[in-house]
Amino acid sequence: MTAPAPAPARDAEGKWLPRAEPKKPVARKKAAPVPSAPVVEQCPVDGCGTPATGRRPVPGMVRVRGSKDGALEHWYCPGRCAAIARATADLRRGGAR
Ligand SMILES: [Zn+2]
Repeated sequence: MTAPAPAPARDAEGKWLPRAEPKKPVARKKAAPVPSAPVVEQCPVDGCGTPATGRRPVPGMVRVRGSKDGALEHWYCPGRCAAIARATADLRRGGAR
């Protein structure tokens, strides 16, 4: 089924006016939250997630082993970050011990 073409318009003097161009949707930047945001947000704390090769960057941070045997330990904030890091390492290991 085809839509009927819009009737051409005439101006006050009876001249035919060019048919109006169909408006194109304008791409606008939206402030809406991005749905593809990472599940685990990057921790804003300085030193969190850095390799534990040197001194503890922040007092109270804990070392968490990486996923592989012999993987570097990293510093993480005690609590949430450390728990996430351990869980991530466990997942990457596939739960195998
Ligand atoms: Zn952290």
